[in-house]
Amino acid sequence: MGLRVLCGETMIQEYNIRVLPETAANEQQLKAYLVREKGLDAKTINATRILKRSIDARQRTVFVNLKVRAYINELPSKEEYEPTIYNNVEGRPQVIVVGAGPGGLFAALRLIELGLRPVVVERGKNVRDRKKDLAQISREHTVDPESNYSFGEGGAGAYSDGKLYTRSKKRGNVDKILNVFCQHGASTSILVDAHPHIGTDKLPRVIENMRNTIISCGGEVHFQTRMDELIIENNEVKGIRTHTGEIFLGAVILATGHSARDVYRWLAARQIPIESKGIAVGVRLEHPVHLIDQIQYHNRNGRGKYLPAAEYSFVTQAEGRGVYSFCMCPGGFVVPAASGAEQVVVNGMSPSNRGSRWSNSGMVVEVRPEDWGDEELKIKNEESVAHWEEELLKLNPSLGKEEMEKINNGLLAGMRFQEELERQCWLQGGRRQTAPAQRMMDFTRRKLSYDLPESSYSPGLVASPLHFWMPPFISRRLSMGFQQFGKSSHGFLTNDAVMIGVETRTSSPVRIVRDNESLQHVTLRGLFPCGEGAGYAGGIVSAGIDGERCAEAVANYYGTN
Ligand SMILES: Cc1cc2nc3c(=O)[nH]c(=O)nc-3n(C[C@H](O)[C@H](O)[C@H](O)COP(=O)(O)OP(=O)(O)OC[C@H]3O[C@@H](n4cnc5c(N)ncnc54)[C@H](O)[C@@H]3O)c2cc1C
Repeated sequence: MGLRVLCGETMIQEYNIRVLPETAANEQQLKAYLVREKGLDAKTINATRILKRSIDARQRTVFVNLKVRAYINELPSKEEYEPTIYNNVEGRPQVIVVGAGPGGLFAALRLIELGLRPVVVERGKNVRDRKKDLAQISREHTVDPESNYSFGEGGAGAYSDGKLYTRSKKRGNVDKILNVFCQHGASTSILVDAHPHIGTDKLPRVIENMRNTIISCGGEVHFQTRMDELIIENNEVKGIRTHTGEIFLGAVILATGHSARDVYRWLAARQIPIESKGIAVGVRLEHPVHLIDQIQYHNRNGRGKYLPAAEYSFVTQAEGRGVYSFCMCPGGFVVPAASGAEQVVVNGMSPSNRGSRWSNSGMVVEVRPEDWGDEELKIKNEESVAHWEEELLKLNPSLGKEEMEKINNGLLAGMRFQEELERQCWLQGGRRQTAPAQRMMDFTRRKLSYDLPESSYSPGLVASPLHFWMPPFISRRLSMGFQQFGKSSHGFLTNDAVMIGVETRTSSPVRIVRDNESLQHVTLRGLFPCGEGAGYAGGIVSAGIDGERCAEAVANYYGTN
C-alpha cells in the first residue's frame, strides 16, 4: 500500500516494493514496474526517488526492498538532505577540541551551531599530506608515529571503510550525522541504503569540506599539534599544553581515539580516574570476493551486474566468549594500521565502488577486563614491559611499586596486551610491515601454510603458524568459531581464505569515566571525554553522535545552551 500525499493538483505517492536487482538499478524499469503493478499512468510520472534500499539475500532469488516515491505531475525538490545552518562564531567563547576524528569534527561543527568557537588541535597532518605517509608504510615499511592510519585529520575514520551503520537506536541522531556528511559532499545514497557506505576514496574530500566549514565560521584547526598535558587548576581543566609548549585555554573535549596510548598513559600516571574496558582481538580474514558473492547470493555465477559485493556477518560463542566478524569490507583491502614503530596491526577499508578482488573482515574474540590475568593471554615480552614502566615513570617519577602494578595489570592491562601482541606480530612478520599469515583451514588443522594466496595487503605476507604463537585464549576460540561459521555457511571455511595478523584496535581498552548527565569527567570539571578512545563510541557514526552530545554538554557548562 502506498502512502498518498496530495499537494494541490499534483501528487506524491510512496510505495514499499520488492523487486529484482535489475529493476532497482534502473529508473525506467522502476517506472514500468509502478505502471504495471500499481496502476500509475506512465505519462504523469515525472520522476521517482528511492527513499530506502536494502538487499534481501535470504532466499535463492535475491530481491531488493525499496521504499520509492513517485512524483506525479510534480518535480522533486533539489535538496535531498536537510542542511544545517552554521553561523559565524568569531569572538564567541572558545572550546578546545583535541583530535580531528569523527568525534572531534562533529563536536566542532555542533559547537558552531550552538554559538561557540571550536579550536581543534590535531597531532597528525591534514588529510591530503597524510596520504603520503600511508603510502610510505607499504613502500618503505616505516610508520610515522604522528601520521598514519590512526592519526591525522579525519582520525581513524579518514582512510577507513566509511561504513556508516550503527547500532545506535536513536534514528534522529543518526540521520543528523548522515545529513551533515551529505552537506559536506557525501553521496545522498547514504540516506537511502540500509548499510550506507562512503568509501575511502571519497572520505578525504568530505573531511576537508568539514574543516573548511569550521574555519570559514571563525573556528581554528591546528595540525601537527599534539596535546601533551591538560592544564588543571582546583579540579577544573582550564585548557591544554601542546608538544611545543603552546597553551590553548577553554573547556576541553578530549576525542583522541583508541590509539592515543600516550594520552591514556598520561591520565593513568597522573592518577586521573579511568577504568579498564573489554576489547576484541583476532585477525583479518580475506576471501576472494567472488567466493563470498557466490556464498551470500547463492549463485555460482556470483553477484552479476546489479548487485554490490556481498556482505556477511557471523557471531557465535566459544567457551563463554563471543567470536564474531567485525567491520566487514566487501570488495576491499587489508591495510597496515600500526601507529608506531615495532607494531604490526591490520584493519580493512574499501573504496566507494567496492571493486577489489577481495572481501575481508575482522574475526575477533571478545576479551573481558577480568581475562587480563588469564595465563592463556600472557605474552612473554620483557622488553615491552620495561619500556612501558620507563614511560610511566617519565610522566610521574613519584609512582610507587603498588601504583605501577595497579596501572600495568589493571587500568592499562588491555592496552599493554595490545602493544605486546602487536610487537609479537611485528617480530613474526620479520621486523617489517609484512604481516604473518596462514590459510584458514590450515589454521583450524594447526598446520603451517607452505604457500599463501594472493592478497590485497600491500606490504606483503609471510607464512606463519598463527595457531602456535597467538595466545591460546584467542586462537582456540577463533578456530572453534571458524568451524562453526563453516558449518552454517557452506564454502566459508576454506584454504582459499587467508588470516592476517593481528587485529587489536577494535575499540578502546579504557574508559575515561564521565558523569552521565553533564558528560564531564567524574573528578575534573571542564573536561569532556569523547568518542571511541574515551570508551563512548564504536565507529564513525557513534563517534559523531557522541561528539555532538559533548558539544551540547559544553554549551550547558558555559551556560549558553
Ligand atoms: C582502516 C580502518 C577502517 C575503519 N572502517 C570503519 C568503518 O567502515 N565504519 C566505521 O564506523 N568505523 C570504521 N573504523 C573505525 C572508526 O574509524 C573509528 O571508530 C572512529 O574514527 C572513531 O572516531 P574518534 O573521533 O572517536 O577517534 P579517531 O578517529 O581515532 O580520532 C582521534 C584523533 O585524535 C588525534 N589525537 C590523538 N591524540 C592526540 C593528541 N594528544 N593531541 C592531538 N590530537 C590527538 C588523532 O590523531 C586522531 O586524528 C575504521 C578504522 C580504521 C583504522
